[in-house]
Amino acid sequence: MRKTLTFTKQQIEEIIKSYPTPFYIYDEKRIRENAGRFYKAFDWVADFKNYFAVKACPNPHILKILKEEGMGTDCSSLPELVMAEKVGILGENIMFSSNNTPAKEFKKAKKIGAIINLDDITHINFLDQTAGLPQIICFRYNPGPLRKSGVNTIIGKPEEAKYGLTKEQLFESYKLVKQRGVKRFGLHTMVVSNELGISALAQTAKMLFELAVGIYKELDIKLEFINLGGGIGIPYKLNQREVDLNKLSQKIKRYYQDIIVKNGLDPIRVVFECGRMITGPFGYLVTTVIHKKHTYKEYIGVDACMANLMRPGMYGAYHHETVLGKENKSLMQTYDVVGSLCENNDKFAIDRKLPTVETGDIIVIHDTGAHGFAMGFQYNGKLRSAELLLKPDGRVKQIRRAETVEDYFSTLDFSSI
Ligand SMILES: *Cc1c(COP(=O)(O)O)cnc(C)c1O
Repeated sequence: MRKTLTFTKQQIEEIIKSYPTPFYIYDEKRIRENAGRFYKAFDWVADFKNYFAVKACPNPHILKILKEEGMGTDCSSLPELVMAEKVGILGENIMFSSNNTPAKEFKKAKKIGAIINLDDITHINFLDQTAGLPQIICFRYNPGPLRKSGVNTIIGKPEEAKYGLTKEQLFESYKLVKQRGVKRFGLHTMVVSNELGISALAQTAKMLFELAVGIYKELDIKLEFINLGGGIGIPYKLNQREVDLNKLSQKIKRYYQDIIVKNGLDPIRVVFECGRMITGPFGYLVTTVIHKKHTYKEYIGVDACMANLMRPGMYGAYHHETVLGKENKSLMQTYDVVGSLCENNDKFAIDRKLPTVETGDIIVIHDTGAHGFAMGFQYNGKLRSAELLLKPDGRVKQIRRAETVEDYFSTLDFSSI
């Protein structure tokens, strides 16, 4: 995928006058267009919905845009539930897909009428005792060794993953909650992450559709919805291509017809809880070069660090970088692009070919609109950056201010030392 920018160097220089680097900037127009494409591709599904995984980009302004595009939220913590509520995403527009869930989070989810997606058979009693069982329950399935193909590296082998119920537990669980008066049922799984392969993604649908038939035949339970989870990948690297949503949709539709329709189970809502593919490609981390260092290697030191974007340091993830104004210069140099954390994995790029970089240059780090700002932290006294929204009319709105030293100290009481 060719990496393009929706803003010019002049525009960014103008923005920097009001909002110093580092900052994140999200492109509202492209987020909306992409959401529209996703919904259009799946328009054969009655009441199609993506429950946006809040953890990917937990900003209420972004959630509001996605709400306007028809999305709900997938939450997995108390603050995420509260954020959805504050944006006016309510009731069954919230999927609560958590794991190892604390009691107070179940209480909150039940109270606001979210769809609760249980991660374990023991959570049936736990939920019943803490909040009472709701009318609608979903279970997260973990196929374990039953799923041999189409697994990928971020989540790993299903049998090594902490999530979900085994097949036996799943059947037992539906039976149990039905006996206790639950009336409406959903099924969920998530076995891939950042997956670009259509067959691996569609395989998840096939697996769940077949399971739905099994649940119907064995337990006489007709599922109301099937939640295919998140995990649709994005092309971080230049040699990767984005998932063709129409092709994916058509493939899932064929499985739906062959399995769900043929067995008389139509209609079942098919839903997703994607985060990465919704905002990932449309967010950028903008940072300024503050130092150049020559030792055994060539280093470019920028004013952002791993505390602003953890993926490269944590997973060795590739994020493309553009040096603003030097887009057409040849890639003459090989650099490590580094932050200021006292950790040697604080590198945004290792041995990256770039044009000759000078201090003062502005570097844009691509595809950081999901699992970017969100994974930030304050280790080493590093502060979280601002988040900006590029509006469709070209204006820029600050949607989160940068943290200050006072924010960093706000949980401390110096007077009691
Ligand atoms: C993280 C997560 C998602 C979103 O994953 P993406 O890769 O951002 O699409 C969806 N559902 C659950 C349960 C998750 O943990």
